[in-house]
Amino acid sequence: MSLVFPRPNTNTVHGKKDKRLMAEVNASPLKHFVTAKKKINGIFEQLGAYIKESASFLEDTHKNEELDPVTTEEQVQEVRGYLTKVASIGEVLARRQMKVVFFGRTSNGKSSVINAMLCDKVLPSGIGHTTNCFLRVEGTDGNEAFLLTEGSEERKSIKTVNHLAHALHQDEDLDAGSLVCVMWPKAKCALLRDDLVLVDSPGIDVTTELDSWIDKFCLDADVFVLVANSESTLMQTEKSFFHKVNERLSSPNIFILNNRWDASASEPEYMDEVHRQHMDRCTNFLVDELGVVDRAQASDRIFFVSAKEVLQARVQKAQGMPEAGGALAEGFQARMFEFQNFERRFEECISQSAVKTKFEQHTVRAKQISEALRCIMDSVHIAAQEQRIYCLETKEDRQDRLEFIDNQLDLLTMDCKAKIKKITEEVEKQVSNAFAEEIRKLHVLVDDFHMDFHPSLVVLKVYKNVSLRNFMAFLCALALEGLKPLLPIPVREQVDKLVPRQCFSLSYDLACDKLCSDFQEDISFHFSLGWTMLVNRFLGPKNTRRRAVYLYSFIYIQVPRPMALTPVSTSMPPFPQSAMTQEELMVSMVTGLASLTSRTSMGVLVVGGVIWKAVGWRLIALSVGLYGLLYIYERLTWTTKAKERTFKRQFVDYATEKLQLIVSYTGSNCSHQVQQELAGVFAQLCQQVDVTRQNLEDEITDMNRKIELLNSLQSKAKLLRPMDVKLQNNMCNCTIGVAVPQ
Ligand code: GDP
Repeated sequence: MSLVFPRPNTNTVHGKKDKRLMAEVNASPLKHFVTAKKKINGIFEQLGAYIKESASFLEDTHKNEELDPVTTEEQVQEVRGYLTKVASIGEVLARRQMKVVFFGRTSNGKSSVINAMLCDKVLPSGIGHTTNCFLRVEGTDGNEAFLLTEGSEERKSIKTVNHLAHALHQDEDLDAGSLVCVMWPKAKCALLRDDLVLVDSPGIDVTTELDSWIDKFCLDADVFVLVANSESTLMQTEKSFFHKVNERLSSPNIFILNNRWDASASEPEYMDEVHRQHMDRCTNFLVDELGVVDRAQASDRIFFVSAKEVLQARVQKAQGMPEAGGALAEGFQARMFEFQNFERRFEECISQSAVKTKFEQHTVRAKQISEALRCIMDSVHIAAQEQRIYCLETKEDRQDRLEFIDNQLDLLTMDCKAKIKKITEEVEKQVSNAFAEEIRKLHVLVDDFHMDFHPSLVVLKVYKNVSLRNFMAFLCALALEGLKPLLPIPVREQVDKLVPRQCFSLSYDLACDKLCSDFQEDISFHFSLGWTMLVNRFLGPKNTRRRAVYLYSFIYIQVPRPMALTPVSTSMPPFPQSAMTQEELMVSMVTGLASLTSRTSMGVLVVGGVIWKAVGWRLIALSVGLYGLLYIYERLTWTTKAKERTFKRQFVDYATEKLQLIVSYTGSNCSHQVQQELAGVFAQLCQQVDVTRQNLEDEITDMNRKIELLNSLQSKAKLLRPMDVKLQNNMCNCTIGVAVPQ
C-alpha cells in the first residue's frame, strides 16, 4: 500500500512500537485487529495531515502570480476532494469492530455460549428467557451497563442480568427483527476490550424473516457461529439459513458449535460414534454443501462444547472458587479445552477476516490516493523543473548579452573617440578647403552680379549695399551648405538610426552682413603712369604695400602707426588693419619724395642735362606726347563700366582678404561643433545602452528570484511526494498482515 509518512519517526521508535504490537498480538489473536486498526487509523490520520499540507501547498502555488502555473485548478480540487474522502474514511475506520453473530434454534444455548465467552452472565438464558430480538453486546468505557434500543438515545440502566431480562420483557415494541444494544463495561470483560461485538439472535426456527435478518444483521458480520444441539442432528432450518447467508456473502466464516456435549457423558459408549456422526455431517455441510472451507480445515471450524459448564466454571473462578468444582459431568476438562480451542480459532479467524474485509478496501483506497498525490507532486516537480531550466537559460542568455554589451561598449567607446577625433580633424580641414574654394570663386560671383552702376554718391551707396549684402550672404550660405556633406555619411546614418533626432545643422553664424561693412571703394581716376600708381607699382601688391607703408612710416615718418581694430563680426576675432588710407599714404609719399627732390634737385638737373644732350629734344617731345596721349586714352576709357569693374575688383580683393582671415577660425569652430554634436550623440547612445543594461540586470534579478522560488517549490514537492511504494507496502503488510494488491 502506498501510504504516507511525511515526517518519518526514527527507526528506534518504530522498532520499539512494533515489538510492543507483536507482543499484544501474541497475547490474543484479537489484538491483531486492534493493532491493525490503530495502525490504519494512524496511517489515515497522517494521510489526512499530508493531504492537508499538500492541498495548501498546491493552493499557494496555484495562487502565486510570480510564476507561470505549475499546478492546475483541477489538481487543487482533486486534492481537496481527497481530504474530504480521507476524513470520512477515518471516521468509518474509527468505528470499525469485529462482529460475530450467533445463530441456532431456540434453547440450543446461544446466550449461554456468549456468556461463557464473556465469562459472565451478561445475557439472560434458560427457560422463560427466550431471546425474541437481536441482542448486540458491545463494550463501553464506563462502569455502568446500559441498554440502547433502536431509534432511541435513551440509556436504560441494567445492573444485573435479571434487570436486562426484565427490561427486555417489558419492552413490548421489541420483535424478532429489532435490535437492542447491551453496553457492557469493558472493565468487567476482557473480550469486549478488543473491539469485539457479539450478536445473539432469536431462534431461527421461530421466524420466517431470515432474508431481512441477513440484510440487517449479517452483511457486516465477520464470523457466524451456528450453535447446534449435540443431542440432536442439524436441522434443515439451520442449514437453509446458512445457505441463504452463503448466497449473500462470499465465503462467510462459519463455526459450528455442537453444544450440550456434556450430555454425551451420560452415554459414554456412544460418544465417539455420535462425535463422528456430528463431525461428518457438519463437515459435509461446511465443505460440500456450503463450500466455505477445505476439508482439511473443517475440523478447526467444528467443536463439541458445553457452554453451560464453561460459563459455570468461569463464573466460579471469577468468584475465587475452583473452576472444576460443583456438579460437572465426566470429561469436563476435555470440553473446557475444546471450548478454549474454539475461542482461539474463532479469535484468529475473526481478527484475520475483519482486518481483511474492514481495512483492505480502505488500504487500497489509501494507496490509490497516495499514488494520485504522488503523480500530482511529480507533475508539479516536473513543471517547476521545466520552468527552472527556462529561467536558468534565460538568465544565462541575459548575462551573456550583458557581458557582450559591456565589451562592445568598451570597444565602441574607443572606436568612437578615435572616429570623433578623425572626423573633427577632417571637418576642420574640409571647412578650410571649402572656404578657400569659395573664396577662389568669389570673383566669378562678383562678375556675375549685374545692377545699374553709377559713380554718383546716391546710386553708388545703393549699389554697394545691395551688392555687398548679396555677395556675402550668398558666399556664406555656399560655404555653410558646403559644410554639411563634410560629416561622414555612415556616421550620420548610424547616429540617425540609433538616436532619432533632428538633422544636424550648423549653429555657427558668420555674420556676413558685418563682415564687409567697412569696405571702402576707390573709383576715382588714377593714371597708370601717374605718381600714385607708380608708387603702388613700385611698392608691389596691397599686402606688401601695407608692410612697406608700415616700414616707411616707421623709418621716414617715425610716427607710430595707429592700429585701429575693426570689429568684423561678433563671432570673429579682430584682425589688425591699417588705419592709413590711400590719401594719407600718398601725402606721406609725396612729402617724402618732395623732401627727397629738394635734396637731390641739383642732381636731377645734371642728369636731365646729360639726357638732353644724349637723346635730343625730339625724343623727349615724342615721349611727352606719348605720355599725354596715354593719359588722354586712359581718361577717356575711365567709363562707368570701368568704374564698376574696378569697384568689383576692389571688393573681391577686400573680401578675399577678410575671408582668408576667418578661414581657420571658422574651421576650428565648425569642427568643435561637430565634435560637440558627435559627443552628444555618443552620450545619448551610452544612455540607451544603460537603459538596456538596466533592463537586462532587472531581468537577471527577476530570474534569480524565480529560480529561488522554484527551488523551494521543487524541494517541497519532493518532500510531499509519498515514500517509495514497495517500502510502504512492506510496512503496511507487516502491520496489517494481509496481502494488499499492487
Ligand atoms: P438460547 O435460546 O439458544 O439462547 O439458549 P439459552 O442459552 O437460553 O439456553 C437454553 C437452556 O439450555 C438453558 O437452560 C441453558 O442452561 C441450557 N444450556 C445451554 N447450554 C447448555 C449446555 O451446554 N449443557 C446443558 N446441559 N444445558 C445447556
